[in-house]
Amino acid sequence: MRKQIAAANWKMNLTYQDSEKLLDEILSAKIKLNDHQEVIFAVPFPYLIMCKSEVAEESGYHIAAQNCNEKKNGAFTGEISAEMIHSIGIRYCIIGHSERRAMFGETAQMLQDKVNLCLGNFITPIFCCGEPLDIRDATQQNQYVQNQIEESLFHLTPEHIETIIIAYEPIWAIGTGRSASTEQAQEMHAHIRSVLAKKYGDAVAQKISVLYGGSVKKENAYEIFSCPDVDGGLVGGASLVAPDFIEIIKALKK
Ligand code: PEP
Repeated sequence: MRKQIAAANWKMNLTYQDSEKLLDEILSAKIKLNDHQEVIFAVPFPYLIMCKSEVAEESGYHIAAQNCNEKKNGAFTGEISAEMIHSIGIRYCIIGHSERRAMFGETAQMLQDKVNLCLGNFITPIFCCGEPLDIRDATQQNQYVQNQIEESLFHLTPEHIETIIIAYEPIWAIGTGRSASTEQAQEMHAHIRSVLAKKYGDAVAQKISVLYGGSVKKENAYEIFSCPDVDGGLVGGASLVAPDFIEIIKALKK
């Protein structure tokens, strides 16, 4: 089975102390993960090392950065490079979250560069894609998401693309309380897999975990994760509440 992943995206929330408490609460639930299950916490930069040491003894639990800069290094005050993230032992990084595309002007080329820098530093990108509401209303979502994947990922070799994680996050579902229906999620995830299969072959496409993101809650996680092409979720709001995220982890395919 492909990796089934519950990924928490804390965004710009929680103090250092809140973060420690939240992680402690989640880890104290002692959820036993199967070999094909993973939990990833994407946390603010200043908490990466503390969070990494909190999960160090827990098999299947990992820490991610929420972003990295598209340049290798240099005079970019306040920015964080993939190499820096690698140097503190972090092996995952969210790339191209819709909030960064919309608010920080991240382009397809910048995301391609970030993906390359992550892979060059042994960091698995969690590459986000997803359409805004007007595109969904015009039923152009399949082509839109296909373009996002082609523009930022299709330069990769099969050996590289099969190591990355994709998160499909319809923008109209992020933080709105309105998640995609299971039919909408499965349809898009199957489309993404067919786009990958056309370029790289079915064997490669079958290896890539495609997460769903957008108002995943403890109440809908099981149903959404049960879709055959949904391999878990990228979770914002509900990942900040320990009992809710614990239930979301438990909803991963067994
Ligand atoms: C996200 O931040 O990636 C996200 C999906 O947020 P939420 O779960 O709050 O919709």
